[in-house]
Amino acid sequence: MSDPYQNAMKQIDKIAKIINLDPDIKERLSEPDRVLTVAIPVKMDNGKIKVFTGFRSQYNNARGPYKGGIRYHQNVSLSEVKALSAWMTWKCSVAGIPYGGGKGGIIVNPKELSIGELERLSRGYIRAIWQFIGSDVDVPAPDVNTTSQIMAWMVDEYAKLTGKLDLAVITAKPLEIGGSQGRTEATGQGGVYVLEALAKEFKLKPSATKIAVQGFGNVGYYFALLAQKAGFKIVALSDSRGGIYSEKGFDVETVKKYKKETGKIQDFKGAKNITNDELLELPVTILVPAALESVITKDNAPKIKTKLIIEMANGPITPEADVILHDKKVLFVPDVLSNSGGVTVSYFEWVQNRMGYYWTKEEVFNKLKPIMVNAFKEGLTAARKYNIDMRMGVYSLAVQKVADAMKLKGI
Ligand code: NAD
Repeated sequence: MSDPYQNAMKQIDKIAKIINLDPDIKERLSEPDRVLTVAIPVKMDNGKIKVFTGFRSQYNNARGPYKGGIRYHQNVSLSEVKALSAWMTWKCSVAGIPYGGGKGGIIVNPKELSIGELERLSRGYIRAIWQFIGSDVDVPAPDVNTTSQIMAWMVDEYAKLTGKLDLAVITAKPLEIGGSQGRTEATGQGGVYVLEALAKEFKLKPSATKIAVQGFGNVGYYFALLAQKAGFKIVALSDSRGGIYSEKGFDVETVKKYKKETGKIQDFKGAKNITNDELLELPVTILVPAALESVITKDNAPKIKTKLIIEMANGPITPEADVILHDKKVLFVPDVLSNSGGVTVSYFEWVQNRMGYYWTKEEVFNKLKPIMVNAFKEGLTAARKYNIDMRMGVYSLAVQKVADAMKLKGI
C-alpha cells in the first residue's frame, strides 16, 4: 500500500511546479512543524491498565492555529495523521478561514470499548497533549468514530487541567455547551451552495438537473435533502446495501422515513433497484459521491457518463481516475472545497465561543454561503488559468496562500 504522507508530499511537488513555488518554502513544507506520539494508559473495566498509542500532527500554522479532527480507528498510523494534517492546512486555506492544519488519532477500535473506557481514553488523550493545544494554538474536532459527546469530555478535561473554561479549544461540541447552530447539516449545506454556484456557472436549470448521490449518511442525506429543497431533481440514492433510481426524482424525506422503518433504501416503491457501481455510471447531470474514498478508479472512470462531479466524501476519486476524467473533460469539484462547510461552521463555533454571543442557524448559513461560493469561483478561475483540473487549481491556490503567509512571517 502506498504511504499517505509520501503521497501528500508528491502532491506538493506537482503543485510547486505549477505555481513556481519558492524552493525554501517547499523544503520547509516537507515536514510538519511538530508531531507528537503519546502513550495513553487507560484503566479498563476489568481493573487492568491498557496502553493506547495516540498522535497529534501540527503541520503548518502560518495562517492561524492548527485545526483538525481526532480519529479513533485501529488502522490509524503516524503517516496517515501527518498526511491528513497537511491536507487540513490546504482545506482551511481554500475556505479562507484563519487556521493552519493539524490532525490527531488514536490506534483503537472504539466499538470494543465500554462507554466508561471510551471516556477515560478520551480524557487521557487530552492529558497527554494539553500543553500543546489551545484556542490560539491548536483546535481539535471530531473525525472518524469521534462524536460531540467525546468533544464534551475533552473540553471538560482541558478545563480541569488548565483551571479555566476555554470553550473555543475544541469544536463540534454539543449545542448545550457552546456548539454552533447548523453544525449537523453544515457539510451538506455547504455542498449545496457549491451546487448552486456550479449550476449558475453552467447555466443549468435546477428542475432539469438530474443528480445521483452515493451515500445516505450525514453528508449524503443532508446534501440530497437540501438540494431537493433548492429545486434540484434527485434521481438516484444509495447506502451500503445498494441504490435506487427514479427518472421522476425522489422526495428525500420519504426515502429517509422508509430507511428508518426498514433499515435499507432498496425496494422503495416506484423505484428501480441499482447497485452502487451502476449509480456511478448513470447518465445524470451531476454525480455526487458522498460515502467512501476511492470509488472512482482507473477501472470505472472511462465508463463515467456525467460531465460534472461534486466530491462530498473525502477522496472518492483516485489520482489515476483524476487524469482520465480530466481528459474526458469531466469537471470535478474537489473534496477540500465542496465538503469544507463542516470545518467552516466549526470556525464559526470558535468565533461564537470567543465572543460569548451566539448566532441563529439562519445567521450561520448566511455567513457560510458567500465563503463556499467564493471558494468555488476562485478554484474554477485558477483551474482555467493554468489549464489544469479543478483539484490542482484549488490546491495551487491553497498552497500559494500558505506560502505567502510563511514568507511574510519569515520561514
Ligand atoms: P456516515 O457514516 O454518516 O455515512 C456514510 C454513508 O455511506 C452511509 O449511508 C453508508 O450506508 C454509506 N456507505 C457505506 N459503505 C458504502 C458503500 N460501499 N457504497 C455506498 N455507500 C456506502 O458518514 P458521513 O459523515 O456522511 O461521511 C461521508 C463522507 O464524507 C466520508 O468520506 C467523510 O470523511 C466525508 N466528510 C464528512 C464530513 C462531515 O461533516 N460528516 C465532513 C467532511 C467530509
